[in-house]
Amino acid sequence: MAIRTPNEYVESLKDGRRIYFDGKLYNDITAHPTLLRGLQRGFIDYAMYQDSRYKDLILAYEDDGEPYHISFKPPETAADLVRRQELQLLQSRIQGGRSSGAKFVGIDALHAITASSRMIDKKSGVSKYVERVEAFRKECKKTDAALAGGVTDVKGDRKLRPSKQKQHKDFYVRIVDESKEGIWVTGCLAHISHATYVNYIIVVPSRAMPQEDKDYAVAFAVSPAAQGVTLIHPQRDFIEWGDYFDYPLAAYNVGADCMVVFDNVFIPWEKVFLCREWEFAPLVTYQFANFHRLSGLSNKVGMVTLDVGAALLMAEYNGLDKDPVIRDKLSWLVWYAETIKALAKAAAANPTIDPTTGWLYPDRMMTNCAKFFGADNHHQAMKVVQDIAGGLVATVPSAKDYYNPDIHDMLEKYLAGKEGVSTEYRIRAIKLVKELAGIEGQVASIHAEGSLAAQKMTFLQIADLEEYKAAAKWACGINDGKEHPLYKGLMDRPVYEKIIK
Ligand SMILES: Cc1cc2nc3c(=O)[nH]c(=O)nc-3n(C[C@H](O)[C@H](O)[C@H](O)COP(=O)(O)OP(=O)(O)OC[C@H]3O[C@@H](n4cnc5c(N)ncnc54)[C@H](O)[C@@H]3O)c2cc1C
Repeated sequence: MAIRTPNEYVESLKDGRRIYFDGKLYNDITAHPTLLRGLQRGFIDYAMYQDSRYKDLILAYEDDGEPYHISFKPPETAADLVRRQELQLLQSRIQGGRSSGAKFVGIDALHAITASSRMIDKKSGVSKYVERVEAFRKECKKTDAALAGGVTDVKGDRKLRPSKQKQHKDFYVRIVDESKEGIWVTGCLAHISHATYVNYIIVVPSRAMPQEDKDYAVAFAVSPAAQGVTLIHPQRDFIEWGDYFDYPLAAYNVGADCMVVFDNVFIPWEKVFLCREWEFAPLVTYQFANFHRLSGLSNKVGMVTLDVGAALLMAEYNGLDKDPVIRDKLSWLVWYAETIKALAKAAAANPTIDPTTGWLYPDRMMTNCAKFFGADNHHQAMKVVQDIAGGLVATVPSAKDYYNPDIHDMLEKYLAGKEGVSTEYRIRAIKLVKELAGIEGQVASIHAEGSLAAQKMTFLQIADLEEYKAAAKWACGINDGKEHPLYKGLMDRPVYEKIIK
């Protein structure tokens, strides 16, 4: 098969999976219009195969000429990371700032288990996980699987480790039983993007695990239709299909970031990729974060481009695009967007290579800096966009009122902006700002790809702090005998009196 049509993708999801949404149980993702809008996000890759403009970017080929989705290829060079980023940017552009559902978080999790399998097997000298992961990758490639990445446990009391939780021991996904056929897992994940619409969820640990928490050091792939899996969708207001005027983004597609409950779910050994090797749990988590922060960043470029574009349109439509105060605000917005673009490019183009296995992954410092920069400034950016757009963002009438013949002319007359600009365009831009400024985008910006604290922790963990200290000591003449390689044997600062005789 190797690449599927959108229809084949949808048909593969009709397997009786248990989906709770808005008070009801559904076994078919096409059974409710809101569930269908979530499905939309999974289409993009399958639809792009059909378009000759994108084949060179999205397809790779087996030796026998069979095509497959480029994302299944483990990255071997910076060019591979850059290519995936270009694909993600393009998908975000096409979908109005939205990522792919089918080949996004899950591919990052697939890369994470690939990295950990190589590192674990190298250390133990037994090729167990590499074989399993490669067989799984081959299967996914062959069946053109849609994948989700399941990392975030519900966590209960955040200050308590998994096995020390008081109310129950299932706040983090854990192994509850084992036999010669496989393991059984129980627990619950939160906010898992597109989980309802994939063929496999790849579950990896969300944190480092000490030995006492070894039952929680587990990674595996599972079908959302497996016995014991329940998917619980987020609350969503009903939006008329195709109501692009009032909801230019959400009427087209919505994210479906679900709770995934595992109640004694059986996982056969061939789909188990970490089983109690607690010392490797943080490695899987960090490898996932490296790849996923890069993916998130690529999508962020698409979103921030929309934010700035909407602000520019509103300034123009309101007749303020030449005003110095507004231009100052626009200039800040453009700086924010361009810095994110630069960081995204740098993070993809400068990968790190693991010295023991040769595994290539996005630079950890750059991806973390970039994610933090985007998230930490997002609310400020949205403040500027809303400020420029005006109060109508909160009070704009609906499409039904705008197109109501009784009041259409009134709205046309009084909601006009600058002469020569269509009132309809102005209202459409306002509706876009309204959606961009919504709570979901704001929260996703902070928490998706990991909360701000996760990146801050990483900065101090992985930065070469001694280099910073050595620079300061060098500059102010402290010689405490602790030399840093970059400062060891450095030439003296050239002094005029010594050089010019
Ligand atoms: C739209 C969206 C899509 C997402 N998609 C996915 C996905 O596809 N797959 C996936 O696995 N995850 C996904 N996530 C989850 C995301 O990674 C988490 O939201 C994020 O890691 C934060 O976890 P949390 O939501 O449990 O918040 P919390 O961890 O509860 O964070 C709330 C605050 O508490 C702080 N905090 C937490 N623990 C501690 C502690 N021990 N000590 C001190 N402070 C602490 C945090 O830093 C933060 O400030 C998604 C999230 C969103 C919003």
